[in-house]
Amino acid sequence: MPPMSHPLNPKRTVAELKELRALTSDDHGAQRVAFTETWLKARGWLRQKMVGLPLEIHDDAAGNTWFTLRGESDKALLIGGHMDSVPNGGWLDGCLNVLAGIEILRRINAQYQGKPPVTVRVVDWADEEGARFGKSLFGSSACSGNLDMNEARGLADKGGVKLPDALKSVGIDFERVKDSGVELKNAAAYLELHIEQGPVLLDLNLPLGAVLGTFGVERHAITFHGQAAHSGSTPMNRRKDAFLAAARMSPEVYQIATRSGNGVCTIGSCNTKPGIVTSVVEECRITLDQRHLDATALAKMLQEAKAASEKFAKEGNVKASWERLWQIAPRPFNEELIAFCDEAIRETCGKSHRLPSGPLHDAAEVAFAGVPTVMMFVQSLHGISHNKIEDTKEEHLEMCVAAFDKLAEKTMGWVQKR
Ligand SMILES: [Zn+2]
Repeated sequence: MPPMSHPLNPKRTVAELKELRALTSDDHGAQRVAFTETWLKARGWLRQKMVGLPLEIHDDAAGNTWFTLRGESDKALLIGGHMDSVPNGGWLDGCLNVLAGIEILRRINAQYQGKPPVTVRVVDWADEEGARFGKSLFGSSACSGNLDMNEARGLADKGGVKLPDALKSVGIDFERVKDSGVELKNAAAYLELHIEQGPVLLDLNLPLGAVLGTFGVERHAITFHGQAAHSGSTPMNRRKDAFLAAARMSPEVYQIATRSGNGVCTIGSCNTKPGIVTSVVEECRITLDQRHLDATALAKMLQEAKAASEKFAKEGNVKASWERLWQIAPRPFNEELIAFCDEAIRETCGKSHRLPSGPLHDAAEVAFAGVPTVMMFVQSLHGISHNKIEDTKEEHLEMCVAAFDKLAEKTMGWVQKR
């Protein structure tokens, strides 16, 4: 028998989160920006927490830290998070995931006397936030193989420091970061806990939710080309009004989102030329951001928006042109793991809810690499993150550690049988 029948101590996780906050925050919030002194301090503190556990600890080629508890089998259950924060960030984003993972390692170590049926690894991903170089998911995308090396090589911070030089200063060789992919060799499942960072669970008055996957995104600029003309002398029926076509298209864009089920569409900007009060608009450029969890539904949303732009351009006697700004495919999570996540939540607090993730997370990269993945969300107060007011009720924090631990145990059994 292990020394204690219930070695999981969620209150300890909350206490450690507070300890980390005191160590790495100032009056404006958390300051654990990746590759800075404060980040290194947070990581050193984390390693200190492992003293006494029979773990192998090392940094991989991309600077991700791996804490490994060897099991009977080499097949590994991975639990991930990130110690880095945005500047003036919150006290939970990223580090909750890591510290919950550590608490689960302690429980598993105690329950299985240091030798669980499968290997269990906690990973602290390097630079999830991308706060300094504008590129998020650095460590996990290097590990998944998805990182665009040419793009990343040219990234510089506000002070002109190039990413490869910043990495060098913390002992990472940029040209070798993808060697970190070897870490996923025996990965059989990946779990990540995270604050929701949005208002969905708060509005439903539920503490926890099972995440279905991360949204795919299609981001485009649409330009309507008409003709400038005097606003006094040009009769209404003779105008080629680029703004009018864009304006007529707008309600249709929101209809497309409604018809799509769970998709969202945003027209985030509108610029007109010549942009003066006495001229019909010659050129109107709007930006459109469309997101959906289902790739087919996302493609349909895009196709419908294109058809709408053609229709309203034709009706207004103007032309429409499209330019793709950015895209990423949806990353649906593993069905069986989603079911385990639901189950773990119901066993902990009675009711679960399934929801997609609007923000990207390291989990999206691990799923991209083909590892069965799921995330669990815990309610965010105010529905807000990346801000020092980011918060979650302590009882919900304790609940999420307990539920996440149940999910880890279920997943360990699943990995063992596969
Ligand atoms: Zn995060």
